[in-house]
Amino acid sequence: MNHKPGVPPRGVRLLQDPLLNKGSAFTEAERDALGLRGLLPPHVHTQDEQAARVLQHLRSLSDPLEQYMALNSLHDRNEALFFRIVCDNVDEIQPLIYTPTVGLACQRFSHIYQRPRGMFISINDRGRIAEALRNWPLRAGIIVVTDGERILGLGDQGANGMGIPVGKLSLYTACAGVDPALCLPVTLDMGTNNEPLLEDPYYVGLRRRRVTGPAYDELIDEFITAAHEVFPNVIIQFEDFANHNAFRLLHKYRDRICTFNDDIQGTAAVALAGVLSALRIKGTKLADEKLLFLGAGEAATGIADLIVAELVGSGMNLGDARKRCWLVDSKGLVVKSRAGLPAQKLPYAHEHAPIGDFLSAVKALRPTGVIGVAAVGDTFTPQVLRAMAECNARPIVFALSNPHSKAECSAEQAYAGTDGRALFACGSPYAPVRVGTKTLVPRQGNNSYIFPGVGLGAIACGATRITDEMFLASAKTLAAQVTPADLDQGSLYPPLANIREVSAQIAAAVVEIAYERGLAAAPRPKNSLEHVRKQMYDPRYPSYA
Ligand code: NAD
Repeated sequence: MNHKPGVPPRGVRLLQDPLLNKGSAFTEAERDALGLRGLLPPHVHTQDEQAARVLQHLRSLSDPLEQYMALNSLHDRNEALFFRIVCDNVDEIQPLIYTPTVGLACQRFSHIYQRPRGMFISINDRGRIAEALRNWPLRAGIIVVTDGERILGLGDQGANGMGIPVGKLSLYTACAGVDPALCLPVTLDMGTNNEPLLEDPYYVGLRRRRVTGPAYDELIDEFITAAHEVFPNVIIQFEDFANHNAFRLLHKYRDRICTFNDDIQGTAAVALAGVLSALRIKGTKLADEKLLFLGAGEAATGIADLIVAELVGSGMNLGDARKRCWLVDSKGLVVKSRAGLPAQKLPYAHEHAPIGDFLSAVKALRPTGVIGVAAVGDTFTPQVLRAMAECNARPIVFALSNPHSKAECSAEQAYAGTDGRALFACGSPYAPVRVGTKTLVPRQGNNSYIFPGVGLGAIACGATRITDEMFLASAKTLAAQVTPADLDQGSLYPPLANIREVSAQIAAAVVEIAYERGLAAAPRPKNSLEHVRKQMYDPRYPSYA
């Protein structure tokens, strides 16, 4: 598969190369020039016609998992057509190739498995990871890697977690035009503690319990070193690691290589952007807010840290800024007197009497917003919503947990529970809701607004590091794309249909910061926005003849 448009292989090999195949859209001239005559049905379709054909089939399927599989097999056959369909119908297709459907696809991964995509590196590959990576036929520019231990809100899915790096990298291309030839999904199979998987005869991963301790760290270290040896300057995005590893790995590697953790930093940026939009509706400042998080893991502490960074950047002292964020975890309100708190929760362990449950915490603290990132469904109960509505004219209610089964509340419940006053964002998509005479359009606080643009920007300037400042700039850039018309219908994010423009703007902001901070290896372009736009992959077919 190691070719780019311009020097394609010929004949059957060309049809079997998903990066170059155009299927029935090869023109008469191309069929002659490329040895394809007789290998395709005679009628030449345009890509538009092919896309319409695929869409009508897709829409005839009622089961999202079947739709996922149909899209997956198109991805394996014809990447340009796959990305054309995703790009032109992102609202409809993103939920099928990423959250929420990807959660189900991971759970069923071994049962619906057809062919490999990306690379599986297992603990048994110790000592030869570089050798394994050299089997990849392309030069990777960006790797999304998971160890499958905390897939969405679904816990340990072992090697089945591969659906996540695959889906995430599809979004890099669809949402920001990152060249698919640069994208490498990787699953590190460290074993699994998921008993049903270990007993499943179809499970594709290692039949052993998870490796921990030094052996785990050594494998990660070897992988990172090997990835840089085989693919110099590659960006490595950690994805869906359990939080006991996610924070450690981020802190260990963030100042050594070009890396980030989307669950922590990307989530933070998208949530902050949503809060900034909510403030425009409320007419208040971030400094006026008090946010209560349900959950105290990667998403919650990542969001809180970025909010604090923004408050400190606008002049508040660190201690006061931290007091704007409160966390509730599985043991109740995170308070100073709690023993044994992990490092990431300590900044938010404030002086307060212990409180065991979320509703009591809402009543005691009277927050201006609640942000749900605990992956426990139906936790923003009517009582919680009522309490929020009683102390706020416009309560911020973000139910960010994925998939739907883990959502804290639905859009309808959020509006019903607050007389339609909630400023609502969700992790998984919800349909518009009629409230009185108005139709409110909730939008997903989805990381896909952020990470593709960050990745594109980092690739475009040869970034050597990805910093929190870049995520702060991404959040503000995203928020700036929200129009008054969006806000008027309760949407805290721009339409997903604008995602490529949003990503280009974010990429340009990242590029600017990289140059200002001396973190870019490529020569500085005259115009960052034009530079990133030129690098965006266009899924419309190139001509090969
Ligand atoms: P995590 O495992 O790091 O954190 C989960 C946290 O929830 C932990 O602190 C845990 O103590 C807490 N928790 C568990 N049960 C609880 C309970 N009953 N009450 C209160 N707290 C409880 O996971 P994470 O990465 O922070 O992700 C959490 C959720 O957020 C997932 O569903 C994930 O899909 C979602 N998420 C959404 C987005 C988005 O774009 N919308 C981004 C990132 C994460």
